[in-house]
Amino acid sequence: MLYKEPAPIKDRENPFESMMSRFNIAAEVLGLDEETYNVLKSPARQVIVNVPVTMDDGKVRVFEGYRVVHSTILGPSKGGIRYAPDVFLDEVKALAAWMTWKCAVVDIPYGGAKGGIICDPYSMSAGEIERLTRAYTSSLVDIFGPDRDIPAPDMGTGPREMAWLMDEYSKTKGSTEHGVVTGKPLVLGGSLGRVEATGRGVMVSAMAAMEKLGMDPAKSTAAVQGFGNVGSWAAKLMAERGVKILGVSDVSGAYWNDNGIDIEEAIEYKNGNNGRLEGYKGAEQIDPAELLTSKVDVLVPAAVEDVITIHNVDKIQARLIVEGANGPTSYKADNIINEKGIMVVPDILANSGGVTVSYFEWVQNRMGFKWTLDRVNERAERIMNESFERVYAASQKYNVPMRIAAYIVAIDKVAMTYKYRGGF
Ligand code: GLU
Repeated sequence: MLYKEPAPIKDRENPFESMMSRFNIAAEVLGLDEETYNVLKSPARQVIVNVPVTMDDGKVRVFEGYRVVHSTILGPSKGGIRYAPDVFLDEVKALAAWMTWKCAVVDIPYGGAKGGIICDPYSMSAGEIERLTRAYTSSLVDIFGPDRDIPAPDMGTGPREMAWLMDEYSKTKGSTEHGVVTGKPLVLGGSLGRVEATGRGVMVSAMAAMEKLGMDPAKSTAAVQGFGNVGSWAAKLMAERGVKILGVSDVSGAYWNDNGIDIEEAIEYKNGNNGRLEGYKGAEQIDPAELLTSKVDVLVPAAVEDVITIHNVDKIQARLIVEGANGPTSYKADNIINEKGIMVVPDILANSGGVTVSYFEWVQNRMGFKWTLDRVNERAERIMNESFERVYAASQKYNVPMRIAAYIVAIDKVAMTYKYRGGF
């Protein structure tokens, strides 16, 4: 039987348009000039590749993959690669643009890019994923490069895939190129602290926001949607600061405990259970939809796009939303969130700890030197806190929500760079 790719999810907001709607508001507040607006409203480059891979049964299957470079004005483009059955071009375009804004918000010298391959990594063998990763890399060898475009992990990929990518790229070039990719295993030039960096940044942003709102972490509760790399680390580090995590969820379901979930225990369980919480007994199982609207002080969506929408936003009870995922809130839900007076630490700020430590990894690769974990964490935390303050100050200055303020900070930086570099 011929393999049939699943159709992209249709009944949700187009992520690129959703991103553009916020961009438009910020551009208007800033009075962005038309030329720069026109340059930034479309990605600089979009590549679609079809990569043939020999599967374990001996048959050849062709996978569609993408690499979208949104902008390189601030430096080489940077962004992860997503392996998912429903990934689609407009999603990758939005994710690439978010990378441009993210890098600008935290003030690191990178542009934005993103990649994706339509595949289901959970139903493929390690050998199939390796051949797919190598084939995708070799088809994009003219795009990637330590000074051009630097991939990293995203959903469905991790250090293992980054190692294959680095190896394949290096073979083509005839020399080992550590800096072509970040999120690598430590032995291949990965950075200490990179694995937990996104979750740690989410925690740092949550603490900064709680301070502004006068919330005491030790007296606050939270729910975390998504218990992958970002969600589980965010939950663990928030719990270490006294926040009681009442609910967590992953693709297997949602889990709730009025006394707080023992996050260390839940992570240990998941690690021994193929990465899933399925069957976890330290909490009762609840309807996953209820998790987002549960009575908690802080909500951390750390899974996929478009989970807080006009269909559930009315029922959200949290005072603070910290977006571990990219694009978890639909554009249409923004207004209601603002009316309700909920503070949102937006994705391009809240989850930027990952790319920040990716930047440190790349810097270490270029220096041929390794930093200690303390140095990585201390510098990342400083960048996160300074960026939070910058965005908070812009939200006060322009009297706009934190999300629009983050876009303003980012667009302002990119526009200034255009002003000095010129060229059109
Ligand atoms: N995929 C991650 C993100 O969305 C990390 C990107 C990177 O480290 O380059 O931020």
